[in-house]
Amino acid sequence: MQLHEDKYKDLNLKIGLEIHVQLKTDQKIFCECSSDYINSSPNNNICPICTSQPGSKPMGVNQKALENLLKIGLFLGCKAYEKPFYVQRKHYFYPDLPSNYQRTSQPILGNGVFMGVGIWEIHIEEDPGRYELREGKVDFNRSGVPLAEIVTAPDIKSPEYAREFLRDLLLSLEYLGVIRGESGSIRADVNISIMGGNRIEIKNVNSVKGIYKALKYEIVRQKAVLQRGGTITMETRHFDEASMITKTLRKKETVADYRYIPDPDLVPIYISPEMLNEIESVLPESPHNKKKRFMEEYSLGEEIVDSLISDLYLSDLFEESAKNSNPLEAGKWCATELKRRLNEKNLSVSTSKIKPKHISDMVGFIERGELSVKNAKWIIEDAVDTGEEIPVLMDKKNFYQISSEDTLIKIIEKIIEDNPKAVLDFKSGNQNALHFLFGKVVNETEGRAEPSKTIKLLKDKLCAVA
Ligand SMILES: [Zn+2]
Repeated sequence: MQLHEDKYKDLNLKIGLEIHVQLKTDQKIFCECSSDYINSSPNNNICPICTSQPGSKPMGVNQKALENLLKIGLFLGCKAYEKPFYVQRKHYFYPDLPSNYQRTSQPILGNGVFMGVGIWEIHIEEDPGRYELREGKVDFNRSGVPLAEIVTAPDIKSPEYAREFLRDLLLSLEYLGVIRGESGSIRADVNISIMGGNRIEIKNVNSVKGIYKALKYEIVRQKAVLQRGGTITMETRHFDEASMITKTLRKKETVADYRYIPDPDLVPIYISPEMLNEIESVLPESPHNKKKRFMEEYSLGEEIVDSLISDLYLSDLFEESAKNSNPLEAGKWCATELKRRLNEKNLSVSTSKIKPKHISDMVGFIERGELSVKNAKWIIEDAVDTGEEIPVLMDKKNFYQISSEDTLIKIIEKIIEDNPKAVLDFKSGNQNALHFLFGKVVNETEGRAEPSKTIKLLKDKLCAVA
């Protein structure tokens, strides 16, 4: 993997990320409200708990959310700490937070490594509501949606690697089925320092692209400050998506500013060894390991494998089809033509009608010379659209190639007999005559003559003609 570090070598870049992902659950973290904050009208999925009404008390932590958090941690190679964890109150004041504090747990897992980047800690917390600054309106549907916060070590040395790391991380979390799929379900605070200067935090960047752009901008900005002989002050900055620049938000808060205290309304979280064992036993293969295995086991090229593993269901479909066909061919067709058709139709493997048998059958037909590569592209489109079996589709389109030598020879003999001038031309060394006669065979068979066999037999026959 290209780390793109060389061009930043002199800058001694240190980039760390605090990544927030929304955990996939039906209910919120401390109450039974639906966690669907996107498809329902504002302030519909709320109750006294998630809007912090006087006298309301949180329920215990949503177990599904906790399970998903543990899956993430174990998948990233972290160890779970063997102690009860307090849920703490982190105080700050904002219209989307009626309690004036956000509930956030102590670190539950830590000491992991993912793609060479240290994972310092992972904890669970609640999402605040959504405050529409311009209209001054607050929607509390999101208030109490469970979040995981993943804190990395400052091991990332370029914006490009930060982008690659985040893309792979998100893909892994999708594989695990533990995060919500909507866009905007990732938010990150980005820390960056250059040339040993002070650390700058860029708050709440909400896309991978935004994180990349914010980092690129900060490098240019900080370099310019240092070149003018200035110093970088430790501060929190805001990334403006529209102008793609960062602006000073406030001087950095310290831990003391948040006045953390354990929430007296919640019993500490305890993770039992049994729970951990159970989760560990059902963890799926990581995309990273799958990539390595596909390249070794099936001898597939990196580009094909990257395309296959970018979609869990596509990679599963490929593996099933490879059981009954040549994996090199099956991999190629899944990674290119099948994927192209799915994208074109805005479908996924699970929403389309494609099955592993389509691919393995099709590869078999091609290898036996009964289906041309050109026609196979049409067949794959029909299979995605209709789900009909490959032989049925080939019949319908009259795609069966003539590859029987006996049948081809008979046709070739007739063509040779009908075109004496072309035969003479071939004899006198005119290669165009061969193409002309080949074209005649193709016409005669309505394009169904298997090309390589036809050319070979045609040459043999022409040489044999006295
Ligand atoms: Zn609620």
